[in-house]
Amino acid sequence: MSVCPRCRGSLADDRDVERLVRQGNDVAIVTVRADVCTQCGELLLHPGMADRLVLAARELREDKTAPVLGRVFDFRSEA
Ligand SMILES: [Zn+2]
Repeated sequence: MSVCPRCRGSLADDRDVERLVRQGNDVAIVTVRADVCTQCGELLLHPGMADRLVLAARELREDKTAPVLGRVFDFRSEA
């Protein structure tokens, strides 16, 4: 079992993790494969997975759509 470079905790190998990619008010959910630290939650992306996040950001910028899952509520102006 491999060791977390940040905290020396043990890594759970080969997990599918959901990551959020945000462009303005648009958010894409992307599944990436990573090793995840069971102690601090550090994510070590597998090769090619960072590209997947970059690609999703680009597709959001280009208005490419995927099935819509939810809505975004803006509570920032609430007291
Ligand atoms: Zn860790």
